[in-house]
Amino acid sequence: MFFERINSLRHTLAFRLTVWYAAIFVFSASVTFTIFYFAIQSALRQRVDEDLRIQSNEFAATYALQGAEFLKRSAMLQAQAAGERKMFFRLFYPSGVVFSSSNMSYWKDIGIDRLAVEAVLRGARHVYATSDVKPNGPKARLIYTSLGRSIVLQLGYSLENETQTLQTFNRIFTVTMTAMLGLAVAVGWFMARRALSGVATLTRTAQQISESDLDLRVPVHREHDEIDNLAITFNQMLDRIQKLIMGIQQMNDNIAHDLRSPITRIRGLAEVTLTGAANLEDYAHMAANTVEECDRLLSMINTMLTISRTEAGMAREQFAQVNFSAVVGEAFELFQPLAEDKGISLSLEASGGIHLRGDQAMLQRLAANLIDNAVKYTPAGGRVDIALKAMDSKVRLTVSDTGIGISPDDQARIFDRFFRGDQSRSQGGAGLGLSLAQAIAHAHGGEIHLESVPGRGSIFSLHLPAGSSPSKGPIDDPS
Ligand code: ADP
Repeated sequence: MFFERINSLRHTLAFRLTVWYAAIFVFSASVTFTIFYFAIQSALRQRVDEDLRIQSNEFAATYALQGAEFLKRSAMLQAQAAGERKMFFRLFYPSGVVFSSSNMSYWKDIGIDRLAVEAVLRGARHVYATSDVKPNGPKARLIYTSLGRSIVLQLGYSLENETQTLQTFNRIFTVTMTAMLGLAVAVGWFMARRALSGVATLTRTAQQISESDLDLRVPVHREHDEIDNLAITFNQMLDRIQKLIMGIQQMNDNIAHDLRSPITRIRGLAEVTLTGAANLEDYAHMAANTVEECDRLLSMINTMLTISRTEAGMAREQFAQVNFSAVVGEAFELFQPLAEDKGISLSLEASGGIHLRGDQAMLQRLAANLIDNAVKYTPAGGRVDIALKAMDSKVRLTVSDTGIGISPDDQARIFDRFFRGDQSRSQGGAGLGLSLAQAIAHAHGGEIHLESVPGRGSIFSLHLPAGSSPSKGPIDDPS
């Protein structure tokens, strides 16, 4: 159980961060310790060397002033006073024959280094060496110096104190390091967990969301750190997904609803014809109605397909130079008789020769949709004004009407597929016209804006870039 838990922890980011943190800590502490260790060792060695040098100089002075016999006695006394295990000396001839020394029972393993003696005889003032007092035991630091031509002094100090000091340092380091390592792991673990707690919350929320509740959001602590940014981005993504899902749901409802009505009508008609005393005329009537309903359905399905394809993007290569003034002029003429029939005054104020790059058929549909809506939603006696203008690098087409207007709530939704305002139910249409118009505008790198006051009228303004830069993608034959 315990090992299983450890094993699962091993794969967590917090665990890996802690290990890294502890490893870096141990590595840097070890480097620091090693540097300290060698610095202390070198300082201690220098101090011993200095003591040896002073002492050997004193012996050399004693020999020079008072002769070998006096030196022997004086050196002996000093060695005894220092302690027989702390210091020793040997006086010997260049041949290596010792003629005087302190009590050597403790130091007997230390011999005379020929190379050091030769260096001294060649003129080196002092030669230092380190030697084992006992194999694997304490060490001694030695100095060789010549007293005149015929006598060499070997003086040795035990390094036991220095070794002990370094051992104490080692012990202190080991204990401190163990405690610090424990602390480093605890602090590292705590910090990693704390830093990653936001991620854990994020993961939990994501899990809950995937289990169903799309309304949940990750709490944002407003500390403006990376986790907060992640949470904000995650929440924004959720908002978008939720909106998309709701849009899809609504679209499904709308499609189902819009498909159901004509199918129900076709079925009803067929049923009535079948159950009634049907003659050839009734059947002809039923067939004509069925064709009409099917045409409506087909047109709706085709428009849906065109919207999807247009939204997926249009290939720029298929774009051609389009005389937009002519396109708008033709649309105006097309709706003129309809407007007259409805008792609406339709006017056009267009600058001529406005050209842009695009798909002529699609731009015709766009202009026609906007004018069609304006005429459709304006009661008799009203006005519809069309204006086309080129401004800097843009082309602006406005279609203003004095019609029923659009409520602020509906304004946000009229470009959605299948959306139809409540007041428009009595009119024909599937709620796809503006979705297609917006998709065409986007595909040409443009935008449609709306201003509207319910009961007073609406203004749809289409902005297109004069040198249109459409989005990439295939375009199929718009049907
Ligand atoms: P349809 O006209 O087929 O219903 P559209 O996508 O063209 O679909 O328009 C969506 C809705 O926007 C319409 O049902 C209507 O409520 C509203 N609308 C569009 N144009 C106008 C307008 N000029 N005046 C008032 N309402 C409009």
